[in-house]
Amino acid sequence: MISPDSFFPRKDGRLCAEGVPLSAIAEAFGTPCFVYSRTALESAFESYRQVLAGRDALVCYAVKANSNLALLATFARLGSGFDIVSGGELARVIAAGGDPAKVVFSGVGKSEAEMRQALAAGIGCFNVESPSELERLNRVAGDLGRIAPIAFRVNPNVDPKTHPYISTGLKSSKFGVAFDEALALYRRAATLPHVRIQGIACHIGSQLLDPAPIAEAAEKVLGLVDTLAAEGIGIAHMDLGGGLGIRYRDEVPPSHASYLGPLLEKLAGRPQRLLFEPGRSLVGNAGLLLTRVETLKHGEEKNFAVVDAAMNDLARPALYDAWHEILPVADTGGERLGYEVVGPICESGDFLGHGRDLALREGDLVAILSAGAYGMTMSSNYNTRPRAAEVMVDGESFRLIRRRETVDALFALEQGL
Ligand SMILES: *Cc1c(COP(=O)(O)O)cnc(C)c1O
Repeated sequence: MISPDSFFPRKDGRLCAEGVPLSAIAEAFGTPCFVYSRTALESAFESYRQVLAGRDALVCYAVKANSNLALLATFARLGSGFDIVSGGELARVIAAGGDPAKVVFSGVGKSEAEMRQALAAGIGCFNVESPSELERLNRVAGDLGRIAPIAFRVNPNVDPKTHPYISTGLKSSKFGVAFDEALALYRRAATLPHVRIQGIACHIGSQLLDPAPIAEAAEKVLGLVDTLAAEGIGIAHMDLGGGLGIRYRDEVPPSHASYLGPLLEKLAGRPQRLLFEPGRSLVGNAGLLLTRVETLKHGEEKNFAVVDAAMNDLARPALYDAWHEILPVADTGGERLGYEVVGPICESGDFLGHGRDLALREGDLVAILSAGAYGMTMSSNYNTRPRAAEVMVDGESFRLIRRRETVDALFALEQGL
């Protein structure tokens, strides 16, 4: 595997995205700005493809990690499927040239309008997460004269050993149907005229660094597949979700081979098609957030580097206390100090990094790494801040893939009294 550094190398002291100095991108499009490496995206996808070679398998990129059309189009061209959680995400996938037949629809609260939209588009599978959703989907499909392909998202109750906010497969979780309930639901689904049982799905959590929990989940799911087969209920695919972690700081995520190896071994010789729904591991380290130091403020106890990006651009530090590497784009001769790297938003929780040793001057560019996943998609307009621009780099060239929002656009839908 290529190290992430090779996509964001330092050349002559200047931090670059592939062959493009980040300073050139800031000059062209301003800051804050998300910068993605196309080669990094393709290489991450290729890592999955290599491990799954020779298997009947489909990678369904989890759109919520980063839903920019240019990223979706990149994955669509590589043959990727997509995991969506809303009608909006489905519209994006289709606009980007994705194949609806390779789409799986996850989520605990699909509306009837979203069900109709997905049925009309001909999506590959609904991952059903409750008994009432099953009944509703059957009715909606019947009204449209269609058959809805379904899987139940089961909750294998394994502890993924990750942050509680991103742990989704425990009994106490709002996601999926209880493992013990699944058999009865499949029996019920088998009697319904407007759904077709297609698969079984699970997704146990995110930023997983240990291959054991997902292998354990696969084993449980496999047990259920056998039980169903004994009752004459055939399962065509097993969807094992996403979740593979990435390195933000000093984590050592398993390689794709060691993460999926134990699971693939358990499933060897099985006829089911395998689906995976990776998000973070496809895009996280393919992107960074480029920002400029507005003000250096030396307090009595702490030094603050106030940058022009904030928690509205990258929520993960404020939301999960997440750690992102912060690097100066060039050495401009500033004094090296321990800095609180913060944004301009009126919240004490608005920080991007605590106690970072950085040599900085006002006006310097800094890069916040590993911001490709759950960065732009979780961004907001808090404090009436227009959302950042997004740029895709490909070798020596770069291109704007989302214009910076304008302030006018932020209140264009409002009505003054
Ligand atoms: C969020 C999510 C994913 C992607 O998770 P990552 O940790 O980003 O790989 C996949 N499937 C479902 C159902 C999800 O909710």
